[in-house]
Amino acid sequence: EQEVRILGGVLELDTKGIGQIMTKIEDVFTLSADAVLDQAVLRAISESGYSRIPVHLSGNPNAFVGSLLVKQLLCLERSQLENMPVSSLPLSILPEARPETSCWQALNYFQTGRAHLLLISHTPGRPGGAIGIVTLEDVIEEILSQEIVDE
Ligand code: ADP
Repeated sequence: EQEVRILGGVLELDTKGIGQIMTKIEDVFTLSADAVLDQAVLRAISESGYSRIPVHLSGNPNAFVGSLLVKQLLCLERSQLENMPVSSLPLSILPEARPETSCWQALNYFQTGRAHLLLISHTPGRPGGAIGIVTLEDVIEEILSQEIVDE
């Protein structure tokens, strides 16, 4: 029975758009490029529990410039962090894709290892069109046709 469900999930990957499985932008934990990594911000990052955080231009929450990999913060001294704006850290690329992009295409992209988080936008390459994000976990949940409970 489980195998049948998974096969169904696999067969749907090609027809299902990532817009159908995304985490909506209003539910995404993001940071402003000018946010300083003080204790309050570090706590918020830690409490969010996410390992990748999309970073937007200051004053323009709809224009994304990259993605902060939280584990990068482990290498920095606490004293270094305190006054450091997010924009001075090396951010990872935040590729953009249209909501119609199939889950299958997203899976193929994730497999290349270039990024494991995609920004979904009506206007890829231009600010203002972001509507959500999708990660490898979202696609795997579609294959399993089941939620993966986070740690
Ligand atoms: P993580 O490694 O941070 O737990 P996953 O890639 O395992 O992230 O994704 C788990 C779920 O959380 C997915 O549904 C994904 O869309 C969502 N997600 C990932 N990053 C964020 C974020 N910064 N804000 C909100 N939701 C996120």
